[in-house]
Amino acid sequence: LADVKFRLSEVLPQIAAHLSQRSERGQVAQYIPPLARIDPGKFGMAIVLNDNSVHAIGDAQEAFSIQSISKVFALTLALGKLGDGLWRRVGREPSGDAFNSIVLLEHEKGIPRNPFINAGAIVTSDVLLASHEPRETIGEILRFVQFLAEDSDISIDPFVAQAETATGFGNFALANLLKANGNLQNLPEQVLGVYHHQCSIAMTCRQLAQAGAFLVSEGRNPLNGFQIVAPERARRINALMMTCGHYNGSGDFAYRVGVPAKSGVGGGVLAIVPRIASIAVWSPGLNQHGNSLLGTEALEMLCKEMRWSVF
Ligand code: GLN
Repeated sequence: LADVKFRLSEVLPQIAAHLSQRSERGQVAQYIPPLARIDPGKFGMAIVLNDNSVHAIGDAQEAFSIQSISKVFALTLALGKLGDGLWRRVGREPSGDAFNSIVLLEHEKGIPRNPFINAGAIVTSDVLLASHEPRETIGEILRFVQFLAEDSDISIDPFVAQAETATGFGNFALANLLKANGNLQNLPEQVLGVYHHQCSIAMTCRQLAQAGAFLVSEGRNPLNGFQIVAPERARRINALMMTCGHYNGSGDFAYRVGVPAKSGVGGGVLAIVPRIASIAVWSPGLNQHGNSLLGTEALEMLCKEMRWSVF
């Protein structure tokens, strides 16, 4: 571990220096108004090793909208509730389509391809909602993330949640089609109340890397020693992150970086190097698939230099 830390102390400044030269930073998400106003010049990265040491650079202490990265935490909770029963309502295959696509949903009778595209995440939120009030379920997801990161300061950005609800017509279309196919138990507006709020959780790179650390060490949170999920389940969540975590950019991400990871349109990425590190990176400009442009590049450099790959 001492060599890993030494190497990180050399590599992280190199990555920051390299990326600060880049003028092409991708485009910040435009369809959620508060996200469209974020400074594309931001960049942060935090790495939590399995001895709990944190190695950070740049804007790693600034909170950003985790967006679809919340789907990892919601999936973890939903598997805790339904176990393998979840797979009757959502698949485990990459979709090859955009994160918000409705196309396959029509063909596949309301069974979304996987829990990380919007349609699949909306079903997952429906599972968590069960017969509760939306605000109880939103509180449950937020408390879970706070517990994982051991940080009660993590909160939901109400402006982002409100903007998503006001502009999320595509998500309403998905939820309505799911409901029409009998794959939502609750009403679309209630389910989307949960979904849009979980996407609006704001976290720093440091908090996010801490919250993901249970996926590094076979389901055990290194921060407090709690076994969050069984080892087998942690491996399976990682497998889904690897195959589906970057939507129709998942193949390219696996090729370039080679570790399980989940992105969000806020420009964050949570990447897991099994047995070694939990990494959170944030750069708000996105590539054509809606994944962080420089965040991916930073992970590519880091994993190459550190020789981190599941392959
Ligand atoms: N809240 C966003 C949406 O539903 C999440 C999408 C994403 O991060 N890819 O469109």
